[in-house]
Amino acid sequence: MAEFSLDLNEDQLQLQKWVHDFAEKTIRPAAHEWDEREETPWPIIEEAARIGLYSFDFISQAFLDQSGLLLPIASEELAWGDAGIGLAILGSTLGLAGIAGNGTPEQLLEWGPQCFGTPDKIQLAAFCVSEADAGSDVSSLRTRAVYDEAKDEWVLNGTKTWITNGGIADLHVVVASVDSELGARGQASFVVPPGTPGIAQGQKFKKMGIRASHTAEVVLDDCRVPGHCLLGGKEKLDERLARAREGKRSSSQAAMKTFEASRPAVGAQALGIARAAFEYSLDYAKERKAFGRAIIENQGIAFKLANMKTRIDASRLLVWRASWMGRNGKEFTSGEGSMSKLYAGETAVYVTEEAIQILGGYGYVREYPVERWHRDSKIFTIFEGTSEIQRLIIARAVSGVHVK
Ligand SMILES: Cc1cc2nc3c(=O)[nH]c(=O)nc-3n(C[C@H](O)[C@H](O)[C@H](O)COP(=O)(O)OP(=O)(O)OC[C@H]3O[C@@H](n4cnc5c(N)ncnc54)[C@H](O)[C@@H]3O)c2cc1C
Repeated sequence: MAEFSLDLNEDQLQLQKWVHDFAEKTIRPAAHEWDEREETPWPIIEEAARIGLYSFDFISQAFLDQSGLLLPIASEELAWGDAGIGLAILGSTLGLAGIAGNGTPEQLLEWGPQCFGTPDKIQLAAFCVSEADAGSDVSSLRTRAVYDEAKDEWVLNGTKTWITNGGIADLHVVVASVDSELGARGQASFVVPPGTPGIAQGQKFKKMGIRASHTAEVVLDDCRVPGHCLLGGKEKLDERLARAREGKRSSSQAAMKTFEASRPAVGAQALGIARAAFEYSLDYAKERKAFGRAIIENQGIAFKLANMKTRIDASRLLVWRASWMGRNGKEFTSGEGSMSKLYAGETAVYVTEEAIQILGGYGYVREYPVERWHRDSKIFTIFEGTSEIQRLIIARAVSGVHVK
């Protein structure tokens, strides 16, 4: 187990600088353009792949790092550059997390590299859980997976919605119900490999923020995948279903395992936006003069900045703690993963709104990045579990009461 330390070591500092440089030189200058275009920023993903940042190797190294801090550090820096482009680069990691959380080591080795492809042939991955009538309430998924024993194939049918990289991904990880009576405990995850017929993109959504990240429906129409695409394998699934039918508790719920692992890294992205807005508005408050003095000389402005910085630092502490706990097998007894995402997400919304206020009219127009940061921040109280759902998880964990 790694000791928890707030002093970053040489490797971590180097990585932070490497990702920061890429964010500063390549991502941030392109942020406005891709926000306006609302398209996947392929040239930037290609550049990230060329330097090794968009790759299975890099993400595996970050996942395996014993401190747990490499992924949140990289995520914060990418989102500091731009959260939409950052998510275009990090989106495949969610698909990978779905495989890592539920698959066998062999499945991870087979499918993990395919989530990213190579610099010459970039691939994307997506993690498909949400449906039109099942967002927070993951237990009521309607997508079905039926086993065709004669062919040793699973047949997937249903429509997923709000999927990051949905339909443009080469590899989709799909959570589906194999026994609807068991709710979330009757679900399993499947890899839909590149080139599989029966999977297609539905509607692409136009969004308020993170517009460089592609979000769309994914339609599964008699989509057949080989038996070995069931993550974790059939034997384990049958055992789990049998336990669930006997009413015994199971520790493995397909979607939840992935979200638990990914929440702190998502919190880190929110943190990156908040830091960007804080730095920008701090500089601005020192430069901007009103009534013959810099506006930061007014407590009304300086105290805003004090509050912003305090909440940003508190968010980072929560994110790093949860990341370290997750990597070192510590149980989240008080919903620490949820705390980190809840607090960082709400901090990003708060900080970016205060930043708009500090910039006045300049905060409200598209020539300046602050309004975009505010639009980008809002998603962090919605996806990967809304703020309400995070509070529910924390409340249940600390009270032992099944709060509804
Ligand atoms: C840009 C974007 C990208 C996304 N990417 C992905 C992805 O890659 N993969 C994926 O599977 N999903 C993805 N999602 C879906 C996202 O996770 C869901 O939108 C989210 O979980 C909320 O579900 P919902 O939209 O159905 O809202 P609902 O669940 O309908 O919630 C509506 C409101 O009711 C509240 N609420 C619901 N239940 C309770 C309760 N018990 N107590 C208190 N309040 C409650 C919610 O907090 C919310 O405020 C994405 C969404 C967006 C917008």
